[in-house]
Amino acid sequence: MAMESIVERIRQKASDISEQLVAWRRFLHQNPELSFEEAATSAYIQGLLSDCGIPHRAGFARHGIVGLLSGEGSSTRVIALRADMDALPIQEENDCPYVSRNAGVMHACGHDVHMTWLLGALVILQDLRGQWSGRVKFLFQPGEERLPGGASAMISEGALEDPVPDCIIGQHVQPDMPVGVVGLRDGMFMASSDELYLTIHGQGGHAAMPHLCIDPVVVAAELVLALQKLVAREKDPFGAAVLTIGRMTTPGGATNVIPSTVHLEGTFRCMDEEYRKSVHQRIRELATGICNAHGAKLEMRIESGYPALYNEPALVQRCRELGMQYFGDEGVTEAPARMTSEDFAWYGRKVPAVFCRTGIGKKVSVHHPRFDVDETCLAVGAGWLALLAMRI
Ligand SMILES: [Zn+2]
Ligand SMILES: [Zn+2]
Repeated sequence: MAMESIVERIRQKASDISEQLVAWRRFLHQNPELSFEEAATSAYIQGLLSDCGIPHRAGFARHGIVGLLSGEGSSTRVIALRADMDALPIQEENDCPYVSRNAGVMHACGHDVHMTWLLGALVILQDLRGQWSGRVKFLFQPGEERLPGGASAMISEGALEDPVPDCIIGQHVQPDMPVGVVGLRDGMFMASSDELYLTIHGQGGHAAMPHLCIDPVVVAAELVLALQKLVAREKDPFGAAVLTIGRMTTPGGATNVIPSTVHLEGTFRCMDEEYRKSVHQRIRELATGICNAHGAKLEMRIESGYPALYNEPALVQRCRELGMQYFGDEGVTEAPARMTSEDFAWYGRKVPAVFCRTGIGKKVSVHHPRFDVDETCLAVGAGWLALLAMRI
């Protein structure tokens, strides 16, 4: 079938199921669950898949689901589609009929939309199975928002085996873009992310007698500034990296008391694995050196998070071509690189991958208590994912 007519057929199918998509998304939005606790979400999706006669298997990374759809053509190609399932520990502040019913939990990163997009794409793919060839593997993945993330567990439990996909596609909501626009970028797209935990043990005492103490606050201040130099002075200025100490606490201390301990917590993000490893080592050296110089003791832990996300350029190019057909020339934009991270990056370590960002028509940022989407994005994103699965 000619490209124009397949795009038309997909658009028509997506529009036919648009009310259904809204209903699914609203149910998921009203019933959000935290990372690795997505039992009801998983049951709901399994029910819908069963109702639609779409074969699947549950129990990956606890609540994950993997399945396979076959087109009628004889190709052996396998295309994987992935949606994440978890919500965030945020109290929703929207005033809408589908507001979260779970206090303190909210789909504020659009994962309810991601699941709906994937469900919609599967329904379209099933209806149009005479129009495509090969197999589509689909992954509903839990726990994207919390380390160690669900993706690595899905992989180690075999989600990318039997059959091994030729490539994998992920799609994320993008608040600052209108509905009908997709953002693409080849190469390094999102950052790696590591969590830093440092405790400086000094010796507390009277604030007026610092010479009798080892002041961990001053040591911590020196350390926070020194850590910035790892980015400012030890990184090639053409590469991106960020180190932020986001929390500095002490169990004691007062205007007149030097505490005995300071805790620091932060994040380190970059786009380059070699540099990433070297920085872990340099943080250790700097922190140990500064603490030693002042007679303080250091405890530290670096929790390695997700790797940097790499988009396979050939796949991105194909997405651009298909995007022109589906969204029109104006609807395909160059997405800027981001220092946020995504555990979708793990899939890209195993098979060629592309992660795109799709406009949702509302401006409030993800992870905000007033985040929401223009629901016309549901049919648009479902159709887009179906087209990619059929033609990438
Ligand atoms: Zn998020
Ligand atoms: Zn997200």
